[in-house]
Amino acid sequence: SQERKRKKAGPAKLTFEEIGGQDNAKQELREALDFMVRHEEIQKFGIRPLKGILLTGPPGTGKTLMAKAAAHYTKSVFVAASGSEFVEMYVGVGAGRIRELFKEARTRAAQEKKENAIIFIDEIDVIGGKREGGQQREYDQTLNQLLTEMDGIYNSDAPRILVIAATNRKEMLDSALLRPGRFDRHIQVELPDKKGRKHILELHAKNKPLNADVSLERLAEETYGFSGAQLESVMNEGAIYAMRENLQIIDQRHLSMGVDKVMLGEKTDRESTE
Ligand code: ATP
Repeated sequence: SQERKRKKAGPAKLTFEEIGGQDNAKQELREALDFMVRHEEIQKFGIRPLKGILLTGPPGTGKTLMAKAAAHYTKSVFVAASGSEFVEMYVGVGAGRIRELFKEARTRAAQEKKENAIIFIDEIDVIGGKREGGQQREYDQTLNQLLTEMDGIYNSDAPRILVIAATNRKEMLDSALLRPGRFDRHIQVELPDKKGRKHILELHAKNKPLNADVSLERLAEETYGFSGAQLESVMNEGAIYAMRENLQIIDQRHLSMGVDKVMLGEKTDRESTE
């Protein structure tokens, strides 16, 4: 989990150009982020500042990448956490961690002399799931703390904070999270279509020696239903097959084997958890 946290936190240098497909989602996100960039006009028009954006969609479609690109686009410091990090045995620990997260955003913005901060919370459904009876009471404080922090965002001055949350189970979210002034902007990140898949494959082929026979167009056709994360795996596995054969270059055949490997891997994953 430390490993995962580091990966998620990583440098926020990523740009929208490095995200394949997702044209609509990227466009919608940029439009929403312009509220943060054009804050002076927003104030002049008396428009309510944007505090929360919810990214929804299947796993591995690039929601984390989007949040990082958003940080780059708005020149924000990027602070990330996952909902599962707030799940604790003891009441109050999760709420404390939420407080720390916002504090870290403020401290880092001051240190790095940035006016904006983006806090990314992956798997928001873990802390923001619907309340059922008296269950999950220990999480309530965590959720309440998040709502309190968001409600207070513009009570303090610098930096401007935007919270981006991601979930692949939007229907599970507590309605308190979705109210105006909270996560009231929703952006759907879909599985890529063929054009999007080709774009993603191209991005992940950039650092790889491909034979002239390789058609990423054909590969995009063969990978219907694949997520960006799976497409990245296809390229990676293909490269491993080529290397195992002591070749200097990756052929279409290796990439097709990569497709099979990823498909089979998914299947065995599912079987083992069932
Ligand atoms: P999860 O819901 O599982 O957290 P996610 O939607 O946040 O997934 P990411 O973590 O952003 O997905 O993507 C995982 C990896 O898959 C990325 O680091 C990248 O290598 C690859 N990837 C996913 N989507 C794209 C994309 N649209 N373009 C390029 N690479 C992608």
